[in-house]
Amino acid sequence: MSQHTQRLQKIHERIQQSEHDFDREAGSVHLLAVSKTRDVDDIRALYAGGQRDFGENYLQEALDKIQALRDLDIGWHFIGPIQSNKTQEIAQHFDWVHSVDRLKIARRLAAQRPAELGPLNICLQVNISNEASKSGVAPDEAVEISREILALPSLRLRGLMAIPAPANDFASQRLPFCHLRALLSRIHQQTAMPLDTLSMGMTDDLEAAIAEGATWVRVGSGIFGPRPKK
Ligand SMILES: *Cc1c(COP(=O)(O)O)cnc(C)c1O
Repeated sequence: MSQHTQRLQKIHERIQQSEHDFDREAGSVHLLAVSKTRDVDDIRALYAGGQRDFGENYLQEALDKIQALRDLDIGWHFIGPIQSNKTQEIAQHFDWVHSVDRLKIARRLAAQRPAELGPLNICLQVNISNEASKSGVAPDEAVEISREILALPSLRLRGLMAIPAPANDFASQRLPFCHLRALLSRIHQQTAMPLDTLSMGMTDDLEAAIAEGATWVRVGSGIFGPRPKK
């Protein structure tokens, strides 16, 4: 077993343990392997170990990998900041976008999604800790923006995504995830649309996210090892 596959196994054990501890249905939490800055051989090794969904932050890097790995049946997720001039290629090459943080981006993705690919899965990114420096819509704008996205053709709004400020203890980690969960339920009530996704939790806080209802955890260093310092 490669080192990556061993780490992958450890992450699966943490997810299963948390599903059990927090009364989540077994298999209800999906694992997104965040492969930014990692090379295609590492992705192949993880694919051989059963991992199917990969998340990328940088478009050009992602397009090179998608091309190099087109023989594999990978679900590609875009999770990084989106400039408007990048939406066309994102709409053409990805299955999911977790980081939609303004309506303009959603409109462009909708207009540019090739019909033959089917709807693009979307999460609205929310600035849940209200940090000045972070991307994401303000929590009190999320209902209205979701309503607008739900009206767009060729997108399928699945739910919300957040990257909370890091916190050291479990209770403080849980709090922003709890707020995101409450926000999803408010949007669900007000739109009556079947939103099923909370994309939240990374290597250091995935247990807290699962406790609060995460359906996708996005794990990078826990699978690939520490990122090389730039
Ligand atoms: C890098 C990244 C992750 C993974 O972070 P780790 O701490 O390495 O698990 C998750 N989500 C986003 C949006 C990221 O950019």
